Amino acid sequence: QVAPVNVTVTGAAGQIGYALLFRIASGHLLGPDTQVNLRLLEIPQAVKAAEGTAMELDDCAFPLLSGIEITDDAKKAFDGVNVALLVGARPRAKGMERGDLLEANGGIFKPQGEAINAGAADDVRVLVVGNPANTNALIAQAHAPDVPRERFTAMTRLDHNRAISQLAAKLSVPVTEIKKLTIWGNHSATQYPDLFHAEVGGRNAAEAVNDEAWLADTFIPTVAKRGAAIIEARGASSAASAANAALNHIHDWVNGTPEGDWTSMAIPSDGSYGVPEGLISSFPVVCKDGEYEIVQGLEINEFSRARIDASVAELAEERDAVKGLGLI
Ligand code: NDP
Repeated sequence: QVAPVNVTVTGAAGQIGYALLFRIASGHLLGPDTQVNLRLLEIPQAVKAAEGTAMELDDCAFPLLSGIEITDDAKKAFDGVNVALLVGARPRAKGMERGDLLEANGGIFKPQGEAINAGAADDVRVLVVGNPANTNALIAQAHAPDVPRERFTAMTRLDHNRAISQLAAKLSVPVTEIKKLTIWGNHSATQYPDLFHAEVGGRNAAEAVNDEAWLADTFIPTVAKRGAAIIEARGASSAASAANAALNHIHDWVNGTPEGDWTSMAIPSDGSYGVPEGLISSFPVVCKDGEYEIVQGLEINEFSRARIDASVAELAEERDAVKGLGLI
């Protein structure tokens, strides 16, 4: 019998955690044949709420759920971890400067990186969801020198899925017709959803749309500002769709992307496409045999170049800020 996979979720009592845990336990993270052992990490004042969620998980009697542990101790939460979903983060409060926000998140992601370094399984894979996700991933990575650096990733899959949905609606085709979409850069308002290499039913998406004004003035801002639009409509930030994207990210990393398609993941740059080495930036990637690889050789036109560069410049600024604060 195969040992169950240890999956740690931080911020487990939060909104995304609530939308995430039940689907992990029912097999949507690693597939219908893999047992999971859940570790829930929370801050002390939210441990009780996490216990409540664990009671509900028990009450589902999920056949694949082999155990649940709840703790406020990062060392315990990450001991033997195979998949780490870092969801809990410090949201920006009114009047908070960027430096304060980065510092507060440094206080969360530094000890978590250290705990991953100390106790994680050899095959650990880390996905950071909590914002600013790319830079939080960089902080955790900096404190886990014994873990291969490519195991630290951040989530742009929700942006990727949003872009597919917007494009499918524009062209009145099912989402399954859309392939090879790319999100470049930071998971922030500067992200760049790229249609120039995407395909719609085998045809180039930019040609199928044939409307640069829609691309620049509607598509890109709609995808980039979708989070705010959801808060406006729902009165709360997106949670189920964020959880779904986190499942998609890990599922594809472990099980592979479909033949003839790729996905978007924020990963440590190897210098491809002029993105400075080491920045955790979103790229088009293909996953196979449990590893990802950047799709190479795409031609980047001027329209794309300017937008990729702007988002990457923002990532470099965030990196310099956390460096200045001594967090990396
Ligand atoms: P959510 O579960 O709604 O969000 C968690 C994080 O995910 C936030 O940083 C949020 O960023 C981010 N996020 C990334 N992408 C998205 C997206 N597309 N839509 C929405 N959110 C996104 O937050 P809650 O406040 O409900 O819960 C957070 C929990 O984390 C709390 O229970 C808190 O106690 C816990 N926490 C745990 C820590 C730990 O385990 N050490 C440390 C800090 C907090 P954004 O704010 O920008 O939307």
